[in-house]
Amino acid sequence: MPLLEARALTRRFGSFTALDGVDFDLRAGEIHAVLGENGAGKSTLMNVLSGLLRPSTGELLIDGQSVRFASPADANAQGIGMVHQHFLLVPPLSVAENLLLSADKAKGGPLSWPLKSVLTEAQALAKSLGWSLPWDALAGSLPVGTQQRIEILKALRGQTKILIFDEPTAVLTPTETPELFATLRQLAAEGKGIVFISHKLDEVLALSERVTVLRRGKVVARLATAECDAGMLAEAMVGSNLSPTPLPDSCSSLGKGAGGEVLTVQNLTLGKLKNLSFSVAPGEILGFAGVDGNGQTELADCLSGMRKPESGEIRVGAMRLSPAPKAVREAQIGVIPADRQKRGLALSMTLTENLTLGVQDSPEFRKSIFLNAKALRARAEQLIQRFDIRTEGPESRASSLSGGNQQKVVIARALAGEPKVVIAVNPTRGLDVGAISYVHTALREAQAAGAAIVLISTELDEVLTLSDRVAVLFEGKLRGIVAPETPREELGRLMGGAAA
Ligand code: ADP
Ligand code: MG
Repeated sequence: MPLLEARALTRRFGSFTALDGVDFDLRAGEIHAVLGENGAGKSTLMNVLSGLLRPSTGELLIDGQSVRFASPADANAQGIGMVHQHFLLVPPLSVAENLLLSADKAKGGPLSWPLKSVLTEAQALAKSLGWSLPWDALAGSLPVGTQQRIEILKALRGQTKILIFDEPTAVLTPTETPELFATLRQLAAEGKGIVFISHKLDEVLALSERVTVLRRGKVVARLATAECDAGMLAEAMVGSNLSPTPLPDSCSSLGKGAGGEVLTVQNLTLGKLKNLSFSVAPGEILGFAGVDGNGQTELADCLSGMRKPESGEIRVGAMRLSPAPKAVREAQIGVIPADRQKRGLALSMTLTENLTLGVQDSPEFRKSIFLNAKALRARAEQLIQRFDIRTEGPESRASSLSGGNQQKVVIARALAGEPKVVIAVNPTRGLDVGAISYVHTALREAQAAGAAIVLISTELDEVLTLSDRVAVLFEGKLRGIVAPETPREELGRLMGGAAA
């Protein structure tokens, strides 16, 4: 009998379904990986399993008994502990105080536990794992790997037999990762069930016995790790879903090579990204496919002027691009950033204000040192019309819009000035089908108007549907540039690291 079982779990946020009929089971003594791209629903599933979120429908069972969790503390009392993606320690408190605080929350009383007994239990656990921890040091002063160990102690307290790790290696240094893996293996050997979330194929292959692959909230594969390779996992992760829409005629007739290269990238190197070179012609969409975490973020950051490359250069026409958002705007590059809420929008500001960002310095919208409010508002109204933004009006706050309409604001700003180059990063993440098709049409229109477009997306279908050429990144290097008609299995292999 599985230690933990989920049956037909569904979780909706408003009209969006983040988990859709998910079945999952965890055995005692196994490390079970949950793999999926960003936005696949991994954290949502774990938050349901650990009592942080309630399922919309579906059932959870522990040792074959149906259970319901009112809170994480409740789940913890029933044997489930979770180590979150973002740590929940209080930085100015000591390690011991942090443990006491969380112990007390679990018991529900105001500081009713004696510090000493909490500490004794934690110290015994730490010793069994071979750790020596600075109990009196302030949590905020410790290396991330040590902070994570404190989180593990918190999750392990009491009768915990199920431990969930949400992307635990994302924050670790290369030397801390093997240490964490050793801990996970030891805990599994002691008979605990471990759920390990990741979007990194090599980690999943190295650590787990079984893999459940999530895509858009659904389980798309259940595999025994020993029978998998990276290519199979990559393919399962990015498999088919969106139905491709045919290109409008205007695009295919323009397209490749219509007038020399606009965007040229040479030997770009930053962090994971190594010596990347490519170029994009006017009216062309070059799509980057690859499992997330293979250099896409670095590439997007360089192309949008957010970070300075360690070496290499980016040219628009003959002009060398400086690493600054302002230089990017001046070079007529429109950016659709990955995270619309953090980088794309000022949520508490109005649509007019949001749409003004980027044009505030142009003479058209300035009267001496003041902004020309009337002109800006008129422009916002036009853009709301043109980009079909469903809102009460230009004075509505960005936070009041649905996700799809927020993304239209971001796109309006990126595409309004008829840019020469467009950088689109996961432009449809988290959107529903209608909004996705809108975004795709907007990109095709920019393409038809002659823009050179770089599309970086973890949605393989999106890349294949929109791109004229498909570049595959693996571990920061270009594995090849192939035609979008390339068979999926072949792409999966490239994404898993095979040479083109
Ligand atoms: P993963 O951990 O696999 O990257 P998540 O479970 O965090 O994915 O998110 C799955 C989807 O659910 C995403 O599209 C995300 O935007 C959406 N989502 C997650 N939490 C919420 C929330 N609280 N409200 C609305 N949408 C959410
Ligand atoms: Mg997550």
